[in-house]
Amino acid sequence: MQELTHYLNGEHVKGTSGRFADVMNPSTGEVQARVPLANGAELDKAVEYASAAQPKWAATNPQRRARVLMKFVDLLNRDMDKLAEALSREHGKTLPDAAGDVQRGLEVVEYCIGAPQLLKGEYTDSAGPGIDMYSMRQALGVTAGITPFNFPAMIPMWMFAPAIACGNAFILKPSERDPSVPLMLAELLEEAGLPKGIIQVVNGDKEAVDAILHHDVIQSVGFVGSTPIAEYIYATGCANGKRVQCFGGAKNHMIIMPDADMDQAADALIGAGYGAAGERCMAISVAVPVGDETADRLMEKLIPRVEKLKVGPYTAGNDVDYGPVVTAAAKANIERLVQTGIDQGAKLVVDGRGFKLQGYEDGYFIGPHLFDHATKDMDIYTQEIFGPVLTCVRAKDYEEALGLAMDHEYGNGTAIFTRDGDAARDFANRINVGMVGINVPIPVPLAYHTFGGWKKSVFGDLNQHGPDAFKFYTRTKTVTARWPSGIKEGGEFSIPVME
Ligand code: NAD
Repeated sequence: MQELTHYLNGEHVKGTSGRFADVMNPSTGEVQARVPLANGAELDKAVEYASAAQPKWAATNPQRRARVLMKFVDLLNRDMDKLAEALSREHGKTLPDAAGDVQRGLEVVEYCIGAPQLLKGEYTDSAGPGIDMYSMRQALGVTAGITPFNFPAMIPMWMFAPAIACGNAFILKPSERDPSVPLMLAELLEEAGLPKGIIQVVNGDKEAVDAILHHDVIQSVGFVGSTPIAEYIYATGCANGKRVQCFGGAKNHMIIMPDADMDQAADALIGAGYGAAGERCMAISVAVPVGDETADRLMEKLIPRVEKLKVGPYTAGNDVDYGPVVTAAAKANIERLVQTGIDQGAKLVVDGRGFKLQGYEDGYFIGPHLFDHATKDMDIYTQEIFGPVLTCVRAKDYEEALGLAMDHEYGNGTAIFTRDGDAARDFANRINVGMVGINVPIPVPLAYHTFGGWKKSVFGDLNQHGPDAFKFYTRTKTVTARWPSGIKEGGEFSIPVME
């Protein structure tokens, strides 16, 4: 069986803690590799290498740093198929979806190639007599990121591309479920010319995460994953004086107005609800049709589409709409939540229970489920299911539909499907959710905008990628300079004000 490594100072290094986690093939349920789980001493080593390498990298001019990222983009394109295959093998998502995972990360790298422009400071000439004032953005030093299983290429790139472009060293603690692609990305960065020690991968679980949170040298921590862990990392990292941004779970509502194109809305719900087996933080998991007549028309279109979904391993190519979920534990949790939906009185109009795939009986496949007539007190509505389960909650009017999304504790993404510009505009203005789609079911902003939810979907104040990332990974320093004569005039004892 393959034994994976850490990636420290440009070398693949075997784990020394003696602890390992199994990396499964979710399609077959077989163990395909084991990944070492780092202890504090292994993390200390990574920090030592990073601290040694970072000052020189920060002193390298931003254009040269950007050229490394330019080359990295070429290498990502060269190895796209290889990366997608490795990603599908450990995650289970289809190959086109895996390539999309790499591509959306690659686009963040492309944005970060603009670092020389993005890092430019501000300058005020003659702010006072003989006084100039300017600000500069400087790297933080050693930074770290902790990432989830569901986008093992894109989310690490959301973090390390801007971190590195700004002149930081970055330590990545990827998900222990699918660590191979993060390791491959680190190798490609060094092939692109990144100096050793600037990107390192420390595999692990809570022990490695806690070592990061308590290490004095690490200046910032980025986290993406579930809300309880996001909350813990935010509280602990902040208490230890770090700059922290954490992105958590979701329950994304799509509101379907009576005037929506029902075919378009049903197609959107199929892709957004069941794509990647529902394991996307921007998946639509709640459909809210406005009015019973709209709900009936939607169900008429939706049910046959859900029943036709093809579930299978990524190796089956285009014959598959979505693959298995990531672990046996995830499968059991989704099945448990489906049962609560039935017990609490929702109507299971497409029943995916008991799904079996010949030849893949031990894989973590789940048939598609569709609930109608769910209510807001049910567990299938309040909790993130993170599986191929779409829940329909009928609203009597627009205000009730809006209120449902507003009152939910999560606020990552949402969408409205309508032909009425005024309704769409009102929705975009009033909704308390970070990313809004108008006739777009998964409104993930492109790399030059920023990504982030509201409410319990986020802890911290700057978003991922776009201009916010350059703020997160730098500190502002503002210099006030007076040349040459004013100093001779003697000391001033009251606070200086400009007259
Ligand atoms: P997770 O919270 O279980 O794990 C995320 C990371 O935290 C992993 O690296 C894991 O090793 C680490 N971790 C797990 N338990 C820990 C603990 N007790 N202490 C310290 N670290 C711990 O999340 P996941 O299952 O990998 O990913 C799915 C979740 O991520 C979903 O809730 C999904 O909505 C969320 N997500 C959010 C976004 C977003 O941008 N808001 C994006 C993708 C995924």
